[in-house]
Amino acid sequence: KSSHTREPPRALVRFNHLPLGFLSLVILLDSKAQQTELEWISYPPNGWEEISGLDENYTPIRTYQVCQVMEPNQNNWLRTNWIEKGNAQRIFVELKFTLRDCNSLPGVVGTCKETFNLYYQETDSEVGRSLRENQYVKIDTIAADESFTQGDLGERKMKLNTEVRIIGPLSRRGFYLAFQDVGACIALVSVKVYYKKCWSIIENLATFPDTVTGSEFSSLVEVEGMCVSDAEEEADNSPKMHCSAEGEWLVPIGKCICKAGFHQKGDACEPCGRGFYKSSSQDLQCSRCPAHSFNDREGSWRCDCEDGYYRALSDPPSVACTRPPSAPQNLVYNINQTTVSLEWSPPADTGGRNDVTYRVICRRCSWEPEECVPCGPNVGYSPAQSGLVDTYVTIMDLLAHANYTFEVEAVNGVSDLSRTQRLFAAVSIATGQAAPSQVSEVIKEKVQQRSIQLSWQEPQQPNGVITEYEIKYYEKDQKDRIYSTVRSKSTSATVNNLKPSTAYVFQIRAFTEAGYGTYGPRLEITTKEEATAAIVSSEQNPVIIIAVVAVAGTIILVFMVFGFIIGRRHCGYSKADQEGDEELYFQFKFPGTKTYIDPETYEDPNRAVHQFAKELDASCIKIERVIGAGEFGEVCSGRLKLPGKRDVSVAIKTLKVGYTEKQRRDFLCEASIMGQFDHPNVVHLEGVVTRGKPVMIVIEYMENGSLDAFLRKHDGQFTVIQLVGMLRGIAAGMRYLSDMGYVHRDLAARNILVNSNLVCKVSDFGLSRVIDDDPEAVYTTTGGKIPVRWTAPEAIQYRKFTSASDVWSYGIVMWEVMSYGERPYWDMSNQDVIKAIEEGYRLPAPMDCPPGLHQLMLDCWQKDRAERPKFDQIVGILDKMIRNPNTLKTPVGTCTRPISPLLDQSTPDFTAFCSVGEWLEAIKMERYRDNFTAAGYSSLESVARMSIEDVMSLGITLVGHQKKIMSSIQTMRAQMLHLHGTGVQV
Ligand code: AMP
Repeated sequence: KSSHTREPPRALVRFNHLPLGFLSLVILLDSKAQQTELEWISYPPNGWEEISGLDENYTPIRTYQVCQVMEPNQNNWLRTNWIEKGNAQRIFVELKFTLRDCNSLPGVVGTCKETFNLYYQETDSEVGRSLRENQYVKIDTIAADESFTQGDLGERKMKLNTEVRIIGPLSRRGFYLAFQDVGACIALVSVKVYYKKCWSIIENLATFPDTVTGSEFSSLVEVEGMCVSDAEEEADNSPKMHCSAEGEWLVPIGKCICKAGFHQKGDACEPCGRGFYKSSSQDLQCSRCPAHSFNDREGSWRCDCEDGYYRALSDPPSVACTRPPSAPQNLVYNINQTTVSLEWSPPADTGGRNDVTYRVICRRCSWEPEECVPCGPNVGYSPAQSGLVDTYVTIMDLLAHANYTFEVEAVNGVSDLSRTQRLFAAVSIATGQAAPSQVSEVIKEKVQQRSIQLSWQEPQQPNGVITEYEIKYYEKDQKDRIYSTVRSKSTSATVNNLKPSTAYVFQIRAFTEAGYGTYGPRLEITTKEEATAAIVSSEQNPVIIIAVVAVAGTIILVFMVFGFIIGRRHCGYSKADQEGDEELYFQFKFPGTKTYIDPETYEDPNRAVHQFAKELDASCIKIERVIGAGEFGEVCSGRLKLPGKRDVSVAIKTLKVGYTEKQRRDFLCEASIMGQFDHPNVVHLEGVVTRGKPVMIVIEYMENGSLDAFLRKHDGQFTVIQLVGMLRGIAAGMRYLSDMGYVHRDLAARNILVNSNLVCKVSDFGLSRVIDDDPEAVYTTTGGKIPVRWTAPEAIQYRKFTSASDVWSYGIVMWEVMSYGERPYWDMSNQDVIKAIEEGYRLPAPMDCPPGLHQLMLDCWQKDRAERPKFDQIVGILDKMIRNPNTLKTPVGTCTRPISPLLDQSTPDFTAFCSVGEWLEAIKMERYRDNFTAAGYSSLESVARMSIEDVMSLGITLVGHQKKIMSSIQTMRAQMLHLHGTGVQV
């Protein structure tokens, strides 16, 4: 990708392609820009002198010159005017000057100098024109890189020196600069004072204001972005950027997204046009109004339905508006006595929906005049009266010889919203004859010793003329239940010839032309005792009645009170139970934390896939090209266009033809797992195609492919902050997976994918097969294949895979990232790796790796897995480092690639190199060989003198490379000092 060649990725440093000097500098003083006299203070008056001259381009400039080289003990001061510092914390002073070589001046030995001193004084306001030396703080002694030897100043081409010094942090409102000459021959050609600033930009729809850089070289200033109008912050992802000391914006985090009704156009949110809508800020594009809907306003979040069309409450704004269905067709019926079955065909028009059900309305009508009333609750419907999915129903318990009409209506999700006329199919039916319904409400009129008189009501549905009732009875305690019957033409009867003091059971049924109805409920009555009996019956003893009533009343009262209390208590308990349940629910179910479900627990793997993955229509997928080979078939890139959504780039994994059922199951298993995850640092599943061939898994497209290959391709091209940003993403993805209870088992840089924004996402899910499929996995003595270099010792030894073993692997991924895709443990054999780990050896810090990061790796590689940090802590630590980049500084010499793996920590000996080229090769920076040669750095001695500004001036723009070269130069300098005693003056 072009954005990953020698330039830093554009997504991260948007403004870098603009001229740095022009954009990020705020000039506080520029002596060259001033045409009139500078009028700085010079003391003593015969020291520095303001003189008009011409610069190297023959533009008139104001200079200060001094050349008291003949007299000893010179102390000539020159002070600028007061410079107000504004918001700056770190001030750059750039001096351009010429200096005369003392050797070329005869007779000045002992008095002539070749340096001058630079000072500053901080004040809150101007302090008059007197100059007190002791109030000044020395910044540096300035020497010339090039002095000149020719005659007079001015007329000749002079060698101009440029020196930059940095002062700060400053605490007062402003300052003076002062130049002390102690006897040199100097012309101060230009003095420029400036600070650096990150200029206001819009990134990810957030505006970041002008920001002054921090006070130190390595500090980043975190700046919160403000969403542009009609945009809002993405949930839990508020926009932030970091202003570097160089005035570049770095590490954008979070973003704003256009609100519902608005879409992104460049750096702004524009309203959706008429006839378009966007229902949520999450959607990227405005979509055309779905069928049968419209809007005539701009900036709509939804479209309104056309007349006669509706949207059900549960319909999302993206579906078409629909209408109630037309009437069912071809309604036919079948009568069996008082039971009617109806059958029909579906309506011609379902209204555009697929949730059509049916309901039946039953009415009973009188013959003359025809008046219909609802059938009421005594009629039965099978399977139901409404919500019928199938196109038939049976209606039971109708009256015999009655006239009914049945209306069958098709309804769908919008029927209840519609105000248009109901459409239905109807039939009128007359029922046939039927037996009478039950005789209930039997009353004992008179109970005697040998007879009982009963009366009753006619059945509710006689269904014809009742010609007779049959009363059936038997002695309750008689074992072989011999029935007797008595008939009656009226609704009362007396049963005689009974035994005294005997319990009898009675049941009555009616008879019409259509036959007997069913018996009514049993009624138990005991005949009276013989008159001679000694016991008085309750009827004759009012005292007993009162007593019985009193006792019964008390019992009832007690029951009522208890019942009430128990009832209340019960309610109380059930409520408490409910509350208890709620408490438990909230205690144990953490909102937002789902739990991973192992798809193997499903008996039917197909059900698992469809539980977690969306079935996609193959026609929505366009395969464009093959990008790789997976275990089950080709991996392609392509596009997915879902209805009502914008099309997106996707990776498509296919299952090769001729697969076995087990292969298909294993292939789809990855989708069943991936489909359960929803996190910005976990690869997102779009869906699956299982109902067509080939079987496919559709995943979001990750433009930069797997992380290990990506890093190897861009060796040395990222800043430490960028690398830590990637690690932070991986840790966040792993935190999410471990919170869900998912153990990855094969976390490695090759299983991390990188998208075009450098966002890293965890991928490669599966059960045992992931590992089988990993070329790094080898069989171990404990059985099973294991990627040894990435796996924690307890997982290798006894297959104890946990989130803590994933943390170990994460440590290895950190090492892979910081070493730009180096192979862990280099070319050591797996057996040697296992042995070395067992003996306590751990990978050393990769080159230029900040010690804090290496410490974190070592923590991940604790032998005792309980001692390893949790992913949550890792994310916290990395966040802290990103906020406070000082912690990521690499102290020189502590962190270089060892010569002998795992053991030797010594630094390479720079004094052993013979040429600049050889040195550059050793630090893998040979690409800059020409830059060094062109600028005249031909010896290692001259290189050792270089400052960071010199390195920058060679045109080395990548901060990572600048640092790498600078830290090597510092080491070289230290070694030369050690070797030669004197060393190099810088
Ligand atoms: P896998 O079977 O998952 O190991 O995939 C095989 C190769 O296909 C990987 O090494 C990647 O280079 C590529 N690949 C897999 N998934 C994606 C994706 N979502 N985006 C881009 N490339 C992918």
